[in-house]
Amino acid sequence: MLDPIPLLDLTAQARALGPELEAVAKAVIASGRYVLGEHVEAFERAFAARCGVAEAVAVNSGTSALHLALLGLGIGPGDEVVTVPMTFVATVAAITYAGATPVLVDIDPVTGTMDPDAFRAAITPRTRAVMPVHLHGRVADMDGINRVARAYGIAVVEDAAQAHAASRNGRPAGSLGDAACFSFYPGKNLGACGEGGALVTDDAALAQRVRVLRDWGQEEKYVHAVRGFNLRMDAMQGGFLGVKLRRLDAWTAARRRVAARYDAALGGIPGLHIPAQAGPGEHVYHVYAIRLAERARVARALAERGIGTGIHYPIPVHLQPAYADLGYPRGAFPASEAFAAETLSLPIYPELTGAQVDRVSGTLAEIMEAADALAA
Ligand SMILES: *Cc1c(COP(=O)(O)O)cnc(C)c1O
Repeated sequence: MLDPIPLLDLTAQARALGPELEAVAKAVIASGRYVLGEHVEAFERAFAARCGVAEAVAVNSGTSALHLALLGLGIGPGDEVVTVPMTFVATVAAITYAGATPVLVDIDPVTGTMDPDAFRAAITPRTRAVMPVHLHGRVADMDGINRVARAYGIAVVEDAAQAHAASRNGRPAGSLGDAACFSFYPGKNLGACGEGGALVTDDAALAQRVRVLRDWGQEEKYVHAVRGFNLRMDAMQGGFLGVKLRRLDAWTAARRRVAARYDAALGGIPGLHIPAQAGPGEHVYHVYAIRLAERARVARALAERGIGTGIHYPIPVHLQPAYADLGYPRGAFPASEAFAAETLSLPIYPELTGAQVDRVSGTLAEIMEAADALAA
Protein backbone atom coordinates (compact mmCIF):
# COMPACT_ATOMS: atom_id res chain seq x y z
CA MET A 1 0.00 0.00 0.00
CA LEU A 2 1.32 3.43 -0.96
CA ASP A 3 1.71 6.06 1.76
CA PRO A 4 -1.50 7.92 2.44
CA ILE A 5 -1.79 11.49 1.11
CA PRO A 6 -3.67 13.58 3.65
CA LEU A 7 -5.70 16.70 2.84
CA LEU A 8 -3.14 18.69 4.83
CA ASP A 9 0.19 17.75 6.42
CA LEU A 10 1.84 20.31 8.70
CA THR A 11 4.65 18.01 9.82
CA ALA A 12 6.83 18.62 6.75
CA GLN A 13 6.88 22.33 7.54
CA ALA A 14 7.63 21.56 11.19
CA ARG A 15 10.60 19.42 10.14
CA ALA A 16 11.98 22.13 7.86
CA LEU A 17 11.58 24.97 10.37
CA GLY A 18 12.04 23.03 13.62
CA PRO A 19 15.41 24.44 14.73
CA GLU A 20 14.43 28.04 13.93
CA LEU A 21 11.11 27.74 15.76
CA GLU A 22 12.82 26.15 18.74
CA ALA A 23 15.31 29.03 18.88
CA VAL A 24 12.40 31.50 18.95
CA ALA A 25 10.66 29.53 21.70
CA LYS A 26 13.85 29.56 23.78
CA ALA A 27 14.32 33.30 23.27
CA VAL A 28 10.74 34.03 24.31
CA ILE A 29 10.99 31.80 27.39
CA ALA A 30 14.24 33.51 28.41
CA SER A 31 12.75 36.98 27.84
CA GLY A 32 10.13 36.57 30.57
CA ARG A 33 7.67 38.52 28.37
CA TYR A 34 4.98 36.15 27.13
CA VAL A 35 2.14 38.34 25.86
CA LEU A 36 2.54 41.01 23.12
CA GLY A 37 6.07 42.50 23.39
CA GLU A 38 8.88 42.82 20.87
CA HIS A 39 8.29 39.58 18.93
CA VAL A 40 4.68 40.52 18.31
CA GLU A 41 5.59 44.10 17.40
CA ALA A 42 8.26 42.97 14.93
CA PHE A 43 5.75 40.61 13.32
CA GLU A 44 3.14 43.38 13.13
CA ARG A 45 5.59 45.64 11.27
CA ALA A 46 6.62 42.90 8.85
CA PHE A 47 3.06 41.74 8.19
CA ALA A 48 1.76 45.29 7.61
CA ALA A 49 4.56 45.79 5.08
CA ARG A 50 3.70 42.50 3.33
CA CYS A 51 0.07 43.63 3.08
CA GLY A 52 1.07 47.04 1.74
CA VAL A 53 -0.55 48.96 4.61
CA ALA A 54 0.63 51.14 7.48
CA GLU A 55 -0.75 49.21 10.46
CA ALA A 56 -1.18 45.66 11.70
CA VAL A 57 -2.69 44.75 15.06
CA ALA A 58 -2.01 41.18 16.16
CA VAL A 59 -4.72 39.39 18.10
CA ASN A 60 -5.43 35.87 19.33
CA SER A 61 -7.50 34.69 16.32
CA GLY A 62 -8.95 35.66 12.98
CA THR A 63 -12.37 35.72 14.59
CA SER A 64 -11.14 38.31 17.11
CA ALA A 65 -9.75 40.44 14.26
CA LEU A 66 -13.17 40.43 12.54
CA HIS A 67 -14.96 41.19 15.81
CA LEU A 68 -12.65 44.09 16.68
CA ALA A 69 -12.69 45.47 13.13
CA LEU A 70 -16.44 46.00 13.49
CA LEU A 71 -16.21 47.44 17.00
CA GLY A 72 -13.35 49.69 15.90
CA LEU A 73 -15.53 51.00 13.09
CA GLY A 74 -18.21 51.83 15.65
CA ILE A 75 -20.61 49.15 14.42
CA GLY A 76 -23.06 47.66 16.90
CA PRO A 77 -26.72 46.97 17.67
CA GLY A 78 -29.13 48.22 15.01
CA ASP A 79 -26.46 48.16 12.30
CA GLU A 80 -26.43 45.71 9.41
CA VAL A 81 -23.31 44.05 8.03
CA VAL A 82 -23.47 42.28 4.67
CA THR A 83 -21.58 39.04 4.07
CA VAL A 84 -22.03 35.67 2.35
CA PRO A 85 -23.38 32.35 3.66
CA MET A 86 -20.62 30.43 1.83
CA THR A 87 -17.90 31.00 4.42
CA PHE A 88 -16.55 29.61 7.65
CA VAL A 89 -19.05 30.38 10.41
CA ALA A 90 -16.65 32.85 12.09
CA THR A 91 -17.44 35.60 9.58
CA VAL A 92 -21.09 35.66 10.60
CA ALA A 93 -20.33 34.98 14.27
CA ALA A 94 -18.11 38.07 14.45
CA ILE A 95 -21.00 40.25 13.23
CA THR A 96 -23.23 38.90 16.00
CA TYR A 97 -20.44 39.38 18.60
CA ALA A 98 -20.45 43.08 17.69
CA GLY A 99 -24.21 43.10 18.31
CA ALA A 100 -24.91 43.91 14.66
CA THR A 101 -27.26 42.07 12.30
CA PRO A 102 -25.77 39.79 9.63
CA VAL A 103 -27.37 40.30 6.21
CA LEU A 104 -26.43 37.47 3.84
CA VAL A 105 -26.15 37.70 0.06
CA ASP A 106 -25.35 35.04 -2.50
CA ILE A 107 -22.04 34.29 -4.18
CA ASP A 108 -21.10 34.40 -7.84
CA PRO A 109 -21.61 30.77 -8.93
CA VAL A 110 -18.32 30.69 -10.85
CA THR A 111 -15.87 32.23 -8.36
CA GLY A 112 -17.61 31.35 -5.09
CA THR A 113 -17.15 34.88 -3.73
CA MET A 114 -19.63 37.71 -3.05
CA ASP A 115 -21.75 38.87 -5.96
CA PRO A 116 -21.51 42.71 -5.96
CA ASP A 117 -25.00 43.03 -7.47
CA ALA A 118 -26.45 40.90 -4.66
CA PHE A 119 -24.62 43.17 -2.20
CA ARG A 120 -26.13 46.27 -3.81
CA ALA A 121 -29.62 44.76 -3.67
CA ALA A 122 -29.29 44.05 0.08
CA ILE A 123 -28.37 47.61 1.12
CA THR A 124 -30.75 49.38 3.53
CA PRO A 125 -30.39 52.64 5.47
CA ARG A 126 -28.92 50.53 8.30
CA THR A 127 -26.10 48.93 6.27
CA ARG A 128 -22.78 49.99 7.81
CA ALA A 129 -20.24 47.49 6.55
CA VAL A 130 -19.65 44.74 4.01
CA MET A 131 -17.41 41.74 4.67
CA PRO A 132 -16.41 40.00 1.44
CA VAL A 133 -14.69 36.66 1.98
CA HIS A 134 -11.69 35.65 -0.15
CA LEU A 135 -12.96 32.06 -0.17
CA HIS A 136 -10.36 29.31 -0.70
CA GLY A 137 -7.73 32.04 -1.19
CA ARG A 138 -9.37 33.70 -4.20
CA VAL A 139 -9.73 37.47 -3.89
CA ALA A 140 -13.39 38.52 -4.10
CA ASP A 141 -14.50 41.03 -6.75
CA MET A 142 -13.16 43.97 -4.75
CA ASP A 143 -13.50 46.43 -7.64
CA GLY A 144 -17.22 45.72 -7.86
CA ILE A 145 -17.73 45.62 -4.09
CA ASN A 146 -15.74 48.81 -3.43
CA ARG A 147 -17.66 50.64 -6.16
CA VAL A 148 -20.98 49.82 -4.50
CA ALA A 149 -19.68 50.44 -0.96
CA ARG A 150 -18.25 53.85 -1.88
CA ALA A 151 -21.48 54.94 -3.53
CA TYR A 152 -23.39 54.23 -0.29
CA GLY A 153 -20.72 55.19 2.29
CA ILE A 154 -20.36 51.61 3.57
CA ALA A 155 -17.14 50.38 5.25
CA VAL A 156 -15.35 47.45 3.58
CA VAL A 157 -13.71 44.80 5.77
CA GLU A 158 -11.99 41.99 3.88
CA ASP A 159 -12.22 38.55 5.47
CA ALA A 160 -8.76 37.58 4.24
CA ALA A 161 -8.41 34.64 6.64
CA GLN A 162 -7.68 32.33 3.68
CA ALA A 163 -5.87 34.78 1.41
CA HIS A 164 -2.41 35.70 2.77
CA ALA A 165 -0.28 37.03 -0.12
CA ALA A 166 -3.11 37.06 -2.64
CA SER A 167 -3.49 40.23 -4.71
CA ARG A 168 -5.71 41.97 -7.21
CA ASN A 169 -4.34 44.29 -9.89
CA GLY A 170 -1.00 44.05 -8.11
CA ARG A 171 -2.35 45.22 -4.74
CA PRO A 172 -2.20 42.77 -1.82
CA ALA A 173 -5.23 41.33 -0.07
CA GLY A 174 -5.35 43.35 3.12
CA SER A 175 -5.03 46.65 1.27
CA LEU A 176 -8.22 46.36 -0.80
CA GLY A 177 -10.76 47.76 1.70
CA ASP A 178 -10.89 49.93 4.82
CA ALA A 179 -9.53 47.08 6.94
CA ALA A 180 -8.77 43.40 6.52
CA CYS A 181 -8.67 40.46 8.88
CA PHE A 182 -6.33 37.48 8.72
CA SER A 183 -6.27 34.21 10.63
CA PHE A 184 -3.07 32.40 11.55
CA TYR A 185 -4.81 29.20 12.58
CA PRO A 186 -2.22 26.46 11.93
CA GLY A 187 -3.76 25.18 8.70
CA LYS A 188 -4.00 28.61 7.06
CA ASN A 189 -1.47 29.63 4.40
CA LEU A 190 0.45 31.48 7.11
CA GLY A 191 -0.18 29.57 10.31
CA ALA A 192 1.02 29.96 13.88
CA CYS A 193 1.92 27.03 16.15
CA GLY A 194 -1.36 27.74 17.90
CA GLU A 195 -4.00 30.43 17.47
CA GLY A 196 -3.48 33.90 16.01
CA GLY A 197 -4.96 36.64 13.87
CA ALA A 198 -4.39 40.21 12.76
CA LEU A 199 -6.26 43.27 11.59
CA VAL A 200 -4.46 45.36 8.98
CA THR A 201 -5.41 48.85 7.82
CA ASP A 202 -4.08 52.15 6.57
CA ASP A 203 -6.33 53.93 9.08
CA ALA A 204 -4.11 54.76 12.07
CA ALA A 205 -7.04 55.81 14.26
CA LEU A 206 -8.87 52.53 13.60
CA ALA A 207 -5.70 50.55 14.37
CA GLN A 208 -5.30 52.45 17.64
CA ARG A 209 -8.91 51.77 18.68
CA VAL A 210 -8.41 48.06 17.96
CA ARG A 211 -5.14 48.03 19.94
CA VAL A 212 -6.98 49.45 22.93
CA LEU A 213 -9.93 47.05 22.54
CA ARG A 214 -7.69 43.95 22.36
CA ASP A 215 -6.05 44.87 25.69
CA TRP A 216 -8.94 45.53 28.06
CA GLY A 217 -9.70 48.99 26.72
CA GLN A 218 -6.51 50.33 28.29
CA GLU A 219 -4.83 53.38 26.83
CA GLU A 220 -2.68 53.40 29.88
CA LYS A 221 -2.25 50.65 32.45
CA TYR A 222 -5.30 50.23 34.71
CA VAL A 223 -7.15 53.08 33.04
CA HIS A 224 -9.99 51.46 31.10
CA ALA A 225 -11.10 54.12 28.64
CA VAL A 226 -13.57 51.76 26.94
CA ARG A 227 -14.90 48.29 27.76
CA GLY A 228 -12.36 46.10 26.09
CA PHE A 229 -11.41 42.43 25.89
CA ASN A 230 -8.47 40.11 26.35
CA LEU A 231 -7.75 39.27 22.71
CA ARG A 232 -3.97 39.77 22.67
CA MET A 233 -1.48 37.71 20.68
CA ASP A 234 1.07 35.86 22.78
CA ALA A 235 4.78 36.44 22.27
CA MET A 236 5.54 32.89 21.17
CA GLN A 237 3.09 33.09 18.24
CA GLY A 238 4.47 36.49 17.21
CA GLY A 239 7.95 34.99 17.08
CA PHE A 240 6.86 31.87 15.18
CA LEU A 241 4.90 33.95 12.68
CA GLY A 242 7.93 36.19 12.10
CA VAL A 243 9.94 33.12 11.08
CA LYS A 244 7.18 31.73 8.88
CA LEU A 245 6.32 35.03 7.16
CA ARG A 246 9.73 34.92 5.47
CA ARG A 247 8.61 31.70 3.71
CA LEU A 248 5.16 32.89 2.70
CA ASP A 249 6.04 33.86 -0.87
CA ALA A 250 7.84 30.58 -1.54
CA TRP A 251 4.96 28.61 0.00
CA THR A 252 2.45 30.53 -2.11
CA ALA A 253 4.42 29.79 -5.27
CA ALA A 254 4.48 26.10 -4.31
CA ARG A 255 0.70 26.04 -3.77
CA ARG A 256 0.21 27.61 -7.19
CA ARG A 257 2.42 24.96 -8.77
CA VAL A 258 0.31 22.24 -7.15
CA ALA A 259 -2.89 23.92 -8.36
CA ALA A 260 -1.57 24.31 -11.92
CA ARG A 261 -0.60 20.62 -11.99
CA TYR A 262 -4.08 19.62 -10.82
CA ASP A 263 -5.64 21.97 -13.41
CA ALA A 264 -3.62 20.39 -16.22
CA ALA A 265 -4.42 16.82 -15.17
CA LEU A 266 -8.08 17.24 -14.25
CA GLY A 267 -9.23 19.95 -16.69
CA GLY A 268 -10.57 17.55 -19.33
CA ILE A 269 -12.38 15.02 -17.16
CA PRO A 270 -16.12 14.83 -17.94
CA GLY A 271 -18.35 15.54 -14.96
CA LEU A 272 -15.60 17.28 -13.00
CA HIS A 273 -15.03 21.05 -12.88
CA ILE A 274 -11.70 22.53 -11.85
CA PRO A 275 -11.67 25.95 -10.10
CA ALA A 276 -12.35 28.88 -12.44
CA GLN A 277 -9.11 30.45 -13.67
CA ALA A 278 -8.06 33.49 -11.64
CA GLY A 279 -6.20 36.60 -12.76
CA PRO A 280 -2.50 37.02 -11.93
CA GLY A 281 -1.96 36.85 -8.17
CA GLU A 282 -5.65 36.54 -7.37
CA HIS A 283 -5.68 32.99 -6.02
CA VAL A 284 -3.35 31.54 -3.37
CA TYR A 285 -5.08 28.13 -3.20
CA HIS A 286 -5.64 27.83 0.52
CA VAL A 287 -8.11 25.23 -0.75
CA TYR A 288 -8.14 23.52 -4.15
CA ALA A 289 -11.77 22.55 -4.66
CA ILE A 290 -13.18 20.68 -7.63
CA ARG A 291 -16.91 20.48 -8.29
CA LEU A 292 -18.74 17.29 -9.11
CA ALA A 293 -22.22 15.86 -8.70
CA GLU A 294 -21.25 12.53 -7.13
CA ARG A 295 -19.08 13.93 -4.38
CA ALA A 296 -19.72 11.47 -1.58
CA ARG A 297 -18.99 8.39 -3.67
CA VAL A 298 -15.82 9.89 -5.16
CA ALA A 299 -14.56 11.02 -1.74
CA ARG A 300 -15.15 7.51 -0.37
CA ALA A 301 -13.32 5.90 -3.28
CA LEU A 302 -10.37 8.28 -2.80
CA ALA A 303 -10.29 7.53 0.92
CA GLU A 304 -10.18 3.78 0.17
CA ARG A 305 -7.07 4.49 -1.90
CA GLY A 306 -5.41 6.48 0.89
CA ILE A 307 -6.21 9.98 -0.40
CA GLY A 308 -7.72 12.51 1.99
CA THR A 309 -10.29 15.10 0.94
CA GLY A 310 -12.36 17.77 2.69
CA ILE A 311 -15.40 19.97 2.08
CA HIS A 312 -15.15 23.75 2.53
CA TYR A 313 -17.94 24.02 3.52
CA PRO A 314 -20.69 21.38 3.48
CA ILE A 315 -23.41 23.55 5.08
CA PRO A 316 -23.75 27.26 4.25
CA VAL A 317 -24.16 29.44 7.33
CA HIS A 318 -27.85 30.23 6.73
CA LEU A 319 -28.65 26.49 6.98
CA GLN A 320 -26.66 25.96 10.19
CA PRO A 321 -28.88 25.20 13.19
CA ALA A 322 -27.13 27.92 15.23
CA TYR A 323 -28.09 30.59 12.68
CA ALA A 324 -31.63 29.46 11.90
CA ASP A 325 -32.90 32.60 13.64
CA LEU A 326 -31.41 34.75 10.87
CA GLY A 327 -34.55 33.59 9.06
CA TYR A 328 -33.20 32.49 5.69
CA PRO A 329 -34.95 29.39 4.29
CA ARG A 330 -33.37 26.65 2.20
CA GLY A 331 -33.34 27.94 -1.37
CA ALA A 332 -32.57 31.53 -0.28
CA PHE A 333 -29.05 31.39 -1.79
CA PRO A 334 -29.02 28.92 -4.70
CA ALA A 335 -25.40 29.50 -5.75
CA SER A 336 -24.11 29.02 -2.19
CA GLU A 337 -26.23 25.92 -1.68
CA ALA A 338 -25.04 24.36 -4.96
CA PHE A 339 -21.43 25.21 -4.09
CA ALA A 340 -21.82 23.59 -0.66
CA ALA A 341 -23.34 20.49 -2.24
CA GLU A 342 -20.77 19.96 -5.00
CA THR A 343 -17.27 21.10 -3.94
CA LEU A 344 -14.61 18.65 -2.88
CA SER A 345 -11.24 19.85 -1.60
CA LEU A 346 -8.16 17.91 -2.72
CA PRO A 347 -4.85 17.66 -0.82
CA ILE A 348 -2.84 20.87 -1.11
CA TYR A 349 0.12 22.21 0.85
CA PRO A 350 3.49 23.60 -0.22
CA GLU A 351 5.44 20.39 0.41
CA LEU A 352 3.15 18.18 -1.69
CA THR A 353 5.37 16.65 -4.41
CA GLY A 354 4.61 16.48 -8.12
CA ALA A 355 4.43 12.69 -7.82
CA GLN A 356 1.85 12.95 -5.04
CA VAL A 357 -0.23 15.40 -7.05
CA ASP A 358 -0.06 13.03 -10.03
CA ARG A 359 -1.20 10.14 -7.84
CA VAL A 360 -4.20 12.13 -6.59
CA SER A 361 -5.12 13.21 -10.15
CA GLY A 362 -4.55 9.75 -11.63
CA THR A 363 -6.62 8.05 -8.96
CA LEU A 364 -9.40 10.60 -9.35
CA ALA A 365 -9.38 10.15 -13.14
CA GLU A 366 -9.70 6.36 -12.71
CA ILE A 367 -12.60 6.74 -10.28
CA MET A 368 -14.42 9.10 -12.64
CA GLU A 369 -13.83 6.80 -15.64
CA ALA A 370 -15.09 3.76 -13.73
CA ALA A 371 -18.27 5.68 -12.88
CA ASP A 372 -18.66 6.63 -16.56
CA ALA A 373 -18.27 2.99 -17.62
CA LEU A 374 -20.93 1.91 -15.11
CA ALA A 375 -23.31 4.61 -16.33
CA ALA A 376 -22.81 3.65 -20.02
C1 LIG B 1 -10.28 30.55 9.58
C2 LIG B 1 -11.30 31.55 9.19
C3 LIG B 1 -11.79 32.51 10.10
C4 LIG B 1 -11.52 32.47 11.57
O1 LIG B 1 -10.19 32.48 11.94
P1 LIG B 1 -9.77 31.85 13.35
O2 LIG B 1 -8.33 32.23 13.47
O3 LIG B 1 -9.97 30.37 13.27
O4 LIG B 1 -10.61 32.49 14.40
C5 LIG B 1 -12.65 33.48 9.62
N1 LIG B 1 -13.03 33.51 8.33
C6 LIG B 1 -12.61 32.59 7.44
C7 LIG B 1 -13.07 32.69 6.02
C8 LIG B 1 -11.74 31.58 7.84
O5 LIG B 1 -11.34 30.65 6.96
